[in-house]
Amino acid sequence: MHKFLIAALLGASAIAAPATAAERTDPRSEAALSLYRDLIAFRTAEGQGQVPAMAARLTEELKAAGFIDADITVQPMGETAYLLVRYAGTGEKAPIAFLGHMDVVDALPEDWERDPFTLTEDGDYFYGRGTIDNKLGIAMLTRAFAELKQAGFSPDRDLYLAFSGDEETGMQTTKALVEALSGEQPAFALNSDAGGGVLNDGDGSPLAYMVQVAEKTFATFDVTVRNEGGHSSRPRPDNAIYELADILKKVEAYQFPVQSNAVTREFFAATGESMGGEAGAMLTRFAENPDDPEAAAAIAADPSMVGFTRTTCVATMLDAGHAENALPQRATATVNCRIFPGTEVSAVQTTLAEVGDNPDAQWVLRGDPTTSPVSDPRDDVNAAVAQAVHARYPDLPLIPYMESGGTDGMHFRVAGIPTYAVSSRFMRRNQMFAHGLDERMRVDSFFAGLEHWPTIIRALASE
Ligand SMILES: [Zn+2]
Repeated sequence: MHKFLIAALLGASAIAAPATAAERTDPRSEAALSLYRDLIAFRTAEGQGQVPAMAARLTEELKAAGFIDADITVQPMGETAYLLVRYAGTGEKAPIAFLGHMDVVDALPEDWERDPFTLTEDGDYFYGRGTIDNKLGIAMLTRAFAELKQAGFSPDRDLYLAFSGDEETGMQTTKALVEALSGEQPAFALNSDAGGGVLNDGDGSPLAYMVQVAEKTFATFDVTVRNEGGHSSRPRPDNAIYELADILKKVEAYQFPVQSNAVTREFFAATGESMGGEAGAMLTRFAENPDDPEAAAAIAADPSMVGFTRTTCVATMLDAGHAENALPQRATATVNCRIFPGTEVSAVQTTLAEVGDNPDAQWVLRGDPTTSPVSDPRDDVNAAVAQAVHARYPDLPLIPYMESGGTDGMHFRVAGIPTYAVSSRFMRRNQMFAHGLDERMRVDSFFAGLEHWPTIIRALASE
């Protein structure tokens, strides 16, 4: 369910180019590419039963590097599985969990120009399902653990790889991983499935490195109006479709109250400064005073920004009537909400029912949404991530942000484990194709990211 940040309209700023592209024929690059290629070939979509096979491939990689059976747990759950790997440390500090998901959203080979389950290099990109979401993270974290083990690195705290197998669907393996780790009491988790560098769409210059520290709650409601119906040749004054339409027009016109938190204020302050101009000034004004109605309205007019200022709800599907010559007996609309952290799902449902203003309409929540808290910034994490990012792009600003979608991180946050998503990837905003056709990863960013996780791990797990 991962959604990439719309990193807002950060203005271009001149920052030094990265160091020379990594040598591709060195053993490190070859090992990473070989693993990445193998992982892409597993069609780990729901129902395909391929996650356990992929976990076995990862197990093989880790054992070749010196991990033993006792370090590795592959826990089958239905057709999928989770993978939990312990890198034993000296226990001077609380453990760290490193997150990724092995499953992917399915891809139909007939719809793709290139086979989605064969890693294909073409021009500046690697193509394939999962090249971004999230087999990149799985490959990078696995190689980081393998390299550090082979180098004889002894962490001063336990490190865990916690790879889920149904992040894109039910997140049952995620919940099981949180449960399995609860006794270890990790100090925090670092997620490979979000965050990362944003490059200018034009010249590819780096704009910022985004750290995901919070997620809005994803909640969907079905609103239904019922009616006795009848023959369409004899229209009656009450009509389920018209009543539903009235409700939806009211929902459309309604704006939830403006909200902010420390994360969004810092996000707007940093983005406003980077953006400059009149639009940037509005962001700065909002960061300084979220009660400024003019600034809030200016931001809300931008679809890529509105979600950072409030809860949003929008109609996404309709289902009504049963025959072209019958009055509708039922009309249902689906309304999807992205709820600001700290706001209860039930409160949003109450508001929608009030706004719709039809006592006969039924509002029903789908599923069991997870509400997760914001993770407060940690100096140790920020310093470690800055070290890894600045080795590639000196002085690049790190900006915290709140995701409008959902990742495994929410279940760790709910369990009291602060979680920061800090992927190794750098990409242009217009090249984000996760979940869609032609998902791709920049070749240069793949190789340049090989030092990302080892740097972070060494910084956080050694004296
Ligand atoms: Zn993902």
